[in-house]
This record gives sequence, C-alpha cells and structure tokens, in this order.
Amino acid sequence: MLQPPHSSLQVAAVPAQRVPVRDRDQDAPWHTEAVCRRDEAGLFFAPSKEPTAARLSREQAAKRVCGGCPVMVECREHALLQPEPYGVWGGLTAAERRVVLARRRRREVELNKAVRATDRIAAAG
Ligand code: SF4
Repeated sequence: MLQPPHSSLQVAAVPAQRVPVRDRDQDAPWHTEAVCRRDEAGLFFAPSKEPTAARLSREQAAKRVCGGCPVMVECREHALLQPEPYGVWGGLTAAERRVVLARRRRREVELNKAVRATDRIAAAG
C-alpha cells in the first residue's frame, strides 16, 4: 500500500470514499517498490485550498520523485485504468492523465473506423 498519499493529512482535498482506491489493489506487486511509500512531504495530493503556484511546485517535486521510481510505468497505467481522479500518479497529474485518456479514446475510435472500413471492403470484394 502506498501509505503516504493515503494518510489523512495528505489527502485532505480527496473525498474519503476515493481514498481506498489504492487500498483495493494493495497486494499488487508494484506497490511494494513504490518510492512514495514514505511521502513525509505530502507531495502527491493537494491540500485543500492550495494556491496555484504552490500546486505547480508540489506537482513538479512529486514528478521528480516519480522519475526515480522503479514502478512508474505500472503506477501510471494503474492510475489511467482506474482511473484515479486525484493526485500525481506515475509522473502525471490528474489533468495530464485526462489528456492521455482522451488521446487513447480518440485513437481507439480511429482504429475501430479503420477496422470497419476494412471489413466493408473485404465483404464487398
Ligand atoms: S511513480 Fe510516483 S506515484 Fe507512482 S509509485 Fe512511484 S513515486 Fe509513487
């Protein structure tokens, strides 16, 4: 379990019902190697009413931690698949994850169109 992001002090801006999300898969192997397990600085989730400049600075610091984390890819994919709506996961903020997910959806739509077009051509041929 990634303790620091889930401590009550550090997730003040996260609704309580969202906190157990990481707890649900706490047995996932990647959690045991998470660098943020001891996040005393509270870098990964915003405190309530955090000013924009402080948020940007905190997120950059969190990303630097993620950059040295051996399970960044697994963490990021987890956050995208859930999806996790808050905090920095796998080096991405919530807003950045929304952009990635939107790109993935657009790509999937385009792929499905291409498959349908190919199927129509094959059926006509
Ligand atoms: S990538 Fe970042 S948020 Fe994810 S486990 Fe590692 S340090 Fe924590």
